[in-house]
Amino acid sequence: MVLSNTERKIIEDSIRDIKDFPKPGIVFKDITTLLNNKEAYGVLMNHLYQRYKEYNLDYIAGIDARGFIFGAALAQMLGLGFVPIRKKGKLPYTTISEKYSLEYGIDEVEVHIDAFGNIPNAKVLMIDDLIATGGTANAAATLINQTGATCVEACFIIGLGFLDGQTKLKETTEVYSLIEVN
Ligand code: AMP
Repeated sequence: MVLSNTERKIIEDSIRDIKDFPKPGIVFKDITTLLNNKEAYGVLMNHLYQRYKEYNLDYIAGIDARGFIFGAALAQMLGLGFVPIRKKGKLPYTTISEKYSLEYGIDEVEVHIDAFGNIPNAKVLMIDDLIATGGTANAAATLINQTGATCVEACFIIGLGFLDGQTKLKETTEVYSLIEVN
């Protein structure tokens, strides 16, 4: 299921560019203007539903924090459970974690050890709003696979094509980005 040009334009036009946020030189892709636009949010979620209803998934996993918004809504539409992949220190039960490099320093994501526990070899779709360097998504996909589940695809609303995040992530899982920004 591919996005039509009309659908792509409605979604693309609803995303706002904020220059120099959070620091000079970054163009921040603001998806709050997609979320408060009922037409654009509806077109997006309907497309995701149409695409993923054929995948025979067991869970949707969303990346902290904007991946929760799309992931939780999609999980409900598909009749599936939702699993949050969180930044370090937020999950209360036993976790497994994966570190990744930032421009300056190291960050870490975590998931509960039993998050996909009630379905053996669970098929998981991972979702986030945007992939840039791919550090976060690579760590999250690795974590899903370490639990014994399988990350069958990573889905992003926006892919920054001028960074090689998507190419790197394709070594671990399938990658689908609705809108490519070059
Ligand atoms: P990365 O690990 O470099 O792929 O960064 C991905 C994470 O950072 C995602 O969770 C995004 O929400 C956020 N992010 C990175 N760059 C941007 C950007 N230009 N606009 C909005 N969010 C961004």
